[in-house]
Amino acid sequence: MPPSTFANRVLHWFDQHGRKDLPWQQTPTPYRVWVSEIMLQQTQVSTVIPYYQEFITTFPDVITLANAEQDRVLQYWAGLGYYSRARNLHKAAQQVRDNFQGVIPDTLDALTRLSGIGRSTAGAILSLAFHQPQPILDGNVKRVLARYHALSGWPGKSAVQKHLWTLAESHLPTGLPAPRHADYTQAMMDLGATVCTRNKPACLLCPLQADCQGLKAGNPTAYPGSKPRKKIPDKHTLMLLLMNDKRQVLLQKRPAPGIWGGLWSLPQFENMTACHAWYTQRYTEPFPDTEELPGFIHTFSHFRLHVQPFLTAPAPYSPKDKGVMEENDSLWYNSGTHFTGGLPAPVKKLFKRIQL
Ligand code: SF4
Repeated sequence: MPPSTFANRVLHWFDQHGRKDLPWQQTPTPYRVWVSEIMLQQTQVSTVIPYYQEFITTFPDVITLANAEQDRVLQYWAGLGYYSRARNLHKAAQQVRDNFQGVIPDTLDALTRLSGIGRSTAGAILSLAFHQPQPILDGNVKRVLARYHALSGWPGKSAVQKHLWTLAESHLPTGLPAPRHADYTQAMMDLGATVCTRNKPACLLCPLQADCQGLKAGNPTAYPGSKPRKKIPDKHTLMLLLMNDKRQVLLQKRPAPGIWGGLWSLPQFENMTACHAWYTQRYTEPFPDTEELPGFIHTFSHFRLHVQPFLTAPAPYSPKDKGVMEENDSLWYNSGTHFTGGLPAPVKKLFKRIQL
């Protein structure tokens, strides 16, 4: 079958059923497409929409984003997870400001040299905003292609990934009016998101059903192959809600890179002995009475974190070394008040639950 036939069917389907009212489709500037693509990595459209709208209202263009404090950027990302995406987005905005006179570049080579932009994100920006014929390979597109060609390997393997790129390129339409290149990219994403879904592909509604090899084989969900199973490890941590006599709690800025890097979190320890050692080094007062609060589990993609929070009785604190409290990486926070730095989602939830 000539490649254009695949594309024609997908485009025809898009004209009737594709999504055309997503917020980033309204004014698809390179900046807006870029922000949406980064947010949509590992996150569903319905979750992204309110974050995207607030983010774009606060940082309406690449220069505003580049000039913003990292704390402020993370604040608007808090809850979306995978914070390295926000740090990279911010860094890349500064690269655009400093190296491209504030203009987002329109070549694959230049885009993929910016922090956090891989080939698929660059392809999406180039096709959706610049109307260039460029393939993309996000999770949805990988699934459609793997099923259509009955490709059984796991896309995380580089050989499978390479094969998928070749297939994506082979189906790419050429010689279309410019905006149709954007439509084709959107169509492939939409087909994966709304028809060829992970668990229940609606093959009867699919424009590719006539020659889909996965469907022909009788079990389309077997494609692509899944990641070899690995049990996610459990980790344990103790979080200290150290409360001063003003009923403020101590927050510390988490080092980047790392879990919650750049966000403000509660001091964390492996155990009470480590907590006491940290406290004794820092404060002159005896360690305060503590109350054990109900623990909770926060699941990351690669481990489960069991959190045991402890709340201290309010007390005044005088740091041993005056300089310590003036560092930029710790502050006293009035729970419930507006906070201009980012808080990790479970810490935010904890504050809501305990009413200090
Ligand atoms: S026919 Fe079914 S499995 Fe094949 S691409 Fe369409 S929805 Fe996916």
